[in-house]
Amino acid sequence: MAGETLTMEQKLAQLRAQYAIKIHERLDNLAGVLGDLAESEGNVRRDLLGKVRDTTHKLAGSGATFGFPDVTTVARKMEQMCTSVLDGQVEDGENVDQELSKSCNDLCTAAEIQGLQSQKTSSDVPRASVPYLHGSSRLSILIIMEYDESTATQIHLEMEHFGFVVRIIDHPSKLMDDIKNNGPVNAIITGLLFDGDDDIALSTLAKFREIEENKDTLIVVHTVLDTMVSRLGAVRVGAKAYLVKPIDMADLVDVLDRITLRHEEDPFRVLVIDDDESLARHTEVVLQSAGMNTEVVINPMDLFTTLDDFSPELILLDLYMPGCDGQEIAAIIRQRQEYAGIPIVFLSGESDKDKQLLAMELGGDDFLTKPIRASHLISSVRIRASRFRELRSFMVRDSMTGLFNHTTTKQMLDNEIARVLRSQSKMALATLDIDHFKNVNDSYGHAVGDRVIKALARLLRQRLRSADVIGRMGGEEFAAILPDTGLAEAETVFNQIRQAFSEIVFHTDGNAFNVTLSCGVASFSDYNTATDLSDAADKALYKAKSCGRNQVVSQN
Ligand code: GH3
Ligand code: MG
Ligand code: MG
Repeated sequence: MAGETLTMEQKLAQLRAQYAIKIHERLDNLAGVLGDLAESEGNVRRDLLGKVRDTTHKLAGSGATFGFPDVTTVARKMEQMCTSVLDGQVEDGENVDQELSKSCNDLCTAAEIQGLQSQKTSSDVPRASVPYLHGSSRLSILIIMEYDESTATQIHLEMEHFGFVVRIIDHPSKLMDDIKNNGPVNAIITGLLFDGDDDIALSTLAKFREIEENKDTLIVVHTVLDTMVSRLGAVRVGAKAYLVKPIDMADLVDVLDRITLRHEEDPFRVLVIDDDESLARHTEVVLQSAGMNTEVVINPMDLFTTLDDFSPELILLDLYMPGCDGQEIAAIIRQRQEYAGIPIVFLSGESDKDKQLLAMELGGDDFLTKPIRASHLISSVRIRASRFRELRSFMVRDSMTGLFNHTTTKQMLDNEIARVLRSQSKMALATLDIDHFKNVNDSYGHAVGDRVIKALARLLRQRLRSADVIGRMGGEEFAAILPDTGLAEAETVFNQIRQAFSEIVFHTDGNAFNVTLSCGVASFSDYNTATDLSDAADKALYKAKSCGRNQVVSQN
């Protein structure tokens, strides 16, 4: 069975099974160390005691999570005993060896019994109640319901330019069958009459609404009628938007985006730092089941590379690790200005409130105690990550288009180049500029100009992949960073975008007009610093402008 097709339950069961095997190995090792301990003295004995403490600490931290709660209890007792002896609070001697070895036997028994139990019962971790929102498809699907074929065709064409997948039906009686045969849609756009003269339209949509699966489908009415009766009819079938003709497609897209973009949001990126790999993988499975992207760092020394490449929106941090502990890592992360605001949440077995608070003084935001219910972990992470994303968006995004701003785009270009250098992959950079944009403003006003900018931003978001970085560099200039993309491929993509953009018809005060763009493309293998690459793309853009605009030029 392929990894992706496993449910969270199945993945967790796999991890538990692996843990159940590994725990015996760990206990064998522990018994070996205890054997050596009984025959040692001085510094050697101290080192061995430290080893026992670390091993039992790990077992205590992971046991309960994988269905071995008694392992956690006994291991914690052993860990505390070692700590007390090492701190000089308890006198060392034969009784310590006896105590530890008796506890070790208890551990083996607990592992045996609970291992058998866990094979029988399924998980104690409840299935996440949160739906899987992964942006598997950034496309929204529309049904256009129109009696008039030419209107339908016109809307169809323009909505396709904005990246929507469109289905047309020419009579309301066909709606239910279409949904049944071709699957659900995000929105229905209809120009049918809602003033009582069209009973079939009203009753069909009312019936459509009664079905649970259709409750999120957006109904948008566009019509020449602006009467109370007609608006009321639309409200009664659950229409969320009512646009009076002639409608501007950019307005329609805005309305659709407001509703559908919620579902297209990129998954949250969560970094898990834990020296215990099986625990880290466990956390990963839980978060992934809720549609989040995760990266795991086992060795804290590898932190910086992952931090910069992955750019997490939340960090889950284990408190006790060999080499350096969670508090220190939190402090180090906070030293970096760009990560000063990232939520850091400790996920640890430490239940002492004072120690928890101490850990947070150095930069943690919250403390979750292991073992933790999957649903609890998911919602804690989601709440903090989404608040962080929102706050950060004011700093990194352009408020008009929602694209990355100039500073952030430049920063991301630097990061991307560093990544490409390390991984020896490809990347392309494109610079776009709307043609004769000043004329748009002069002829139709600034507000209409803004609409054109937003339309292009939307088109770029629809056509490019979620891994691509799209920035508004200022005014009517945009840039796009395309990882793992060669020059020729980038040129093709932007030619399609250029073509689609030129076909969008903008309407204002009885006028209809089109706008074009020019684009320059350069790729990493030809230019390998951020400045050279940007300059090359700009130069190509300049060529596109001087050769007549409305074209894509690549520079190599
Ligand atoms: P070219 O084809 O050579 O690019 O010509 P252009 O007219 O597009 O270029 P120019 O740089 O001369 O004009 C860009 C205009 O864009 C000038 C500025 O007023 C306008 N502009 C900049 N930012 C915005 C904005 O946010 N909204 C609107 N509506 N206009 C903007
Ligand atoms: Mg321009
Ligand atoms: Mg310009």
